[in-house]
Amino acid sequence: SEINVINFGAGPAKLPKEVLLDVQKEFLSYQNEGMGIVEISHRSEEYAKINSSAQSTLRELLNVPVNYKILFMHGGGQGAFSAIPMNLMSRTGKADYLVTGTWSSVAANEAKKYGQVNIVNARIPGGIPDPKTWKLNSDASYVFYCDNDTIDGVEFPFIPETEDIPLVADMSSNLLTKKLDVSKFGVIFAASQKNLGPASVAVLIVREDLLGNATEYCPSILDFTILNKMDSILNTPPIFSIYVMDKVFRWIRKSGGLTVMETLSEQKSSLVYNTLELHNTFYFSPVGKNARSRINIPFRIGKSNGDEELENQFLREAEERNMLQLKGHHLVGGIRVSLFNSITVQEVNRLIDFMIDFQKRNA
Ligand code: PMP
Repeated sequence: SEINVINFGAGPAKLPKEVLLDVQKEFLSYQNEGMGIVEISHRSEEYAKINSSAQSTLRELLNVPVNYKILFMHGGGQGAFSAIPMNLMSRTGKADYLVTGTWSSVAANEAKKYGQVNIVNARIPGGIPDPKTWKLNSDASYVFYCDNDTIDGVEFPFIPETEDIPLVADMSSNLLTKKLDVSKFGVIFAASQKNLGPASVAVLIVREDLLGNATEYCPSILDFTILNKMDSILNTPPIFSIYVMDKVFRWIRKSGGLTVMETLSEQKSSLVYNTLELHNTFYFSPVGKNARSRINIPFRIGKSNGDEELENQFLREAEERNMLQLKGHHLVGGIRVSLFNSITVQEVNRLIDFMIDFQKRNA
């Protein structure tokens, strides 16, 4: 029998039930061939169709302009942290990094191996510094930022203005949760294990004119130009992950596309933030109101710096009610609610009911 759990994890995260059932059905025999999806060749016609469907559905969802290439790369998000400088920094040997949370900081440190990294802003915990204070450099090969920091719960409510310097965005935790003007970016990338599918892939959307600049030492499997030439099948790709992603992309399209995902995302996150605000002597958001993520919501309980005993009790009681993976990232502690596309409004309401009840009993 089935347990009705709600998975609020930050990634690997909940996937749509419909998609998982479909995968289960096909696992032993893909398209009634007697071979499962993880048993067929990456050079097969079947995989060519999956690869092409995943690309074209993503292109359709995001309205990706023709001068952008879609790539599927090994190595997940951190693989992309290395691949970005190796593919883009050679033009000037320098890059600008906006650091507004843990992940942009990790990305900046990785990039230092390949060239000169300039951190262009003072870091404000739980906030985005005023763009007027950023010190962008005109000789940067690109400007990197993280559109939604999964750990700190900081999301950009605007697209950074970088004039003619290519803008590179890590959208690992919020790609496909809102409409997006892709033409504002040089590169957009996302790790797969949150909104898109199982772990192991980095999905990249790369402006064509940025290809052809990889350093000589760049591994071929991380070279955007080679990947593009090979239609993302240079070596054996993470077939299973890309196969599931294709199904998730089609599930999003069937559900109404990014307009619907964006509306639902606003609705779900407002429910949680309104609850935090209504009980703001018990629940504390560490993030400023103009930078609050719609997708990953960290909060503390009891005192603004967190009463760990009460937080552990919250997690235990949530688990008893089948609400799982609510523990905050170990670097920041507390609670974290992740609201990817697969999470329903009804599931958020179940959490809210519990939060209100927990507050009444413990305030
Ligand atoms: N960027 C962001 C915003 C992330 O949330 C993560 C993973 N949580 C990464 C990068 C790194 O992804 P991966 O674990 O696939 O390397």
